[in-house]
Amino acid sequence: MRPDSASAVSPASPARSGRPVCGERAHLPYEAVEAALKLAPRAEPDDVERLVRCTLEDHSTGDHFAFVLELDGVHTGSVWARWIRGRLPAAVLVLPDCPATGPAPAREPCCEFAGHAGGHTWELTDPWAVRG
Ligand SMILES: [Zn+2]
Ligand SMILES: [Zn+2]
Repeated sequence: MRPDSASAVSPASPARSGRPVCGERAHLPYEAVEAALKLAPRAEPDDVERLVRCTLEDHSTGDHFAFVLELDGVHTGSVWARWIRGRLPAAVLVLPDCPATGPAPAREPCCEFAGHAGGHTWELTDPWAVRG
């Protein structure tokens, strides 16, 4: 009997087959939400992502990073949560955007922060992504 069956594979079956994202989820504690809003004075509390998800390439070491809040302006970067695996995200920080873009003609911008670990957004498969 073959151990692999088609139904055991992810039902999302995205069109592109990149490496998987980490996908670790965490609830942003109240203090971190407050800290994020301090970093982005013009943001509304509803703008802050409360249930965050690590979008780095699947990793077995290092901290998780998740997008929290966009900042106004073009080259301002974004607010990210960073957390140690098994803990809650206690800290938020502003990180510049990753400057990389995908191959032509799409030139898809990378949605990670500058200097992130792992592959760029377009090299990864995110079965949970809601892009639109
Ligand atoms: Zn992660
Ligand atoms: Zn990147």
